[in-house]
Amino acid sequence: MNKKGHVLNAVLLALGLGVIFTVDPRTFEPTVDSVLHLAQKIGQLSIPVVLGALFPDVDTAFGKHRKTLHNLPVLVVFLLFPVFFENLYFVWIGVATHYVLDMVGSKRGIALFYPLSSQEYDLPTGVATSSKHADVVTVVITTAELAVLAGVHYYLFSLDVSMADAAASIGSMI
Ligand SMILES: [Zn+2]
Repeated sequence: MNKKGHVLNAVLLALGLGVIFTVDPRTFEPTVDSVLHLAQKIGQLSIPVVLGALFPDVDTAFGKHRKTLHNLPVLVVFLLFPVFFENLYFVWIGVATHYVLDMVGSKRGIALFYPLSSQEYDLPTGVATSSKHADVVTVVITTAELAVLAGVHYYLFSLDVSMADAAASIGSMI
């Protein structure tokens, strides 16, 4: 997938996750407070998710493309970074969605277990990154991702980090 696809994917994901994290369809009422809360959440998600989605393709400039920064060890680093350093929340979502889009939405796979193995993994789906259908494929994949993330968030464990928690952890450092 090209940069445009990754940004489109990340922006839609931030918007959708903002809704999933803040809107309970059974009780939601469009008050100033609830809309403001939704807008804040989308803002909190937007830049970290977009930056995460752009990060793996840095390996077009150094290392090996679709290998050096397209693997599970890199994703684990972004997952654990907030736990140890209390910043870079939500960047892992951008990195993870980049991998999904590359594997599901484009012809070439990624080396999930690099540097242990250079084998590139791919699904038999996807279109050429230059295809005129690339945007439609991106939107379809993003919708499926949101369904999975909503399921995890509602039924398994919270993917959200409240702004109060984030501010408190930053406050405790200074
Ligand atoms: Zn990529």
